[in-house]
Amino acid sequence: MSGADLQARRDLIGAARLMAARGLAAGTSGNVSLRVAGGILITPSAVPYEALTPEMIPLLREDGGYEGRFRPSSEWRFHLDIYLARPEVGGVVHHHAPHCTALAMARRDIPACHYMIARFGGAPVRCAAYALFGTAALSAAVLKALAGRTACLMANHGGLAVGRDVSAALAAASELETLARQYLLSLQAGGPVLLSEQDIQEAIAQFATAYRPNNGD
Ligand code: 13P
Ligand code: ZN
Repeated sequence: MSGADLQARRDLIGAARLMAARGLAAGTSGNVSLRVAGGILITPSAVPYEALTPEMIPLLREDGGYEGRFRPSSEWRFHLDIYLARPEVGGVVHHHAPHCTALAMARRDIPACHYMIARFGGAPVRCAAYALFGTAALSAAVLKALAGRTACLMANHGGLAVGRDVSAALAAASELETLARQYLLSLQAGGPVLLSEQDIQEAIAQFATAYRPNNGD
């Protein structure tokens, strides 16, 4: 294993453990992947995150075959299909976080209830149609819901976010859970007043200019 490969495996395990530590994924629910030369590294199926070591991480190839002793996540199809369809994506995080999942069980999109929805590319953040976990049908539903967005909910299942790398994907997956929680709370307070499409477009532009990354220069 090269130094870069080992580091990528450590990054993957670190993101998966942070996802669990933040309460976004109970037990072995959820899965995490990142793009590398020659394929994707993805969490193995049904293995507790605290038990993961770099050698246990399968390398999934574009043809769906894999290298390694442990079989890849049952959701390898949508991970792989997202990387094939979206060249800008370097990391994918899927979770069963409570508030995302509560909305997903009700099969509700998240509407323009907060300007932070601009973080995900616009409103609504869609809820993908229901399909059995681990199937190509679920992958197709997720890809459709993700069009023009960096996150979606998955009916009667959970949430998903993508990013330029795995830490950006995890940050987005955490922000998605926060937005879902805020939306659920506002529904209890009588329901949100929704922002207009112009408000959302202005927020997207503001993120790109006034709220660009702050590197101290
Ligand atoms: P895996 O353990 O196979 O990744 O499955 C967990 C999950 O969330 C299925 O949707
Ligand atoms: Zn799942």
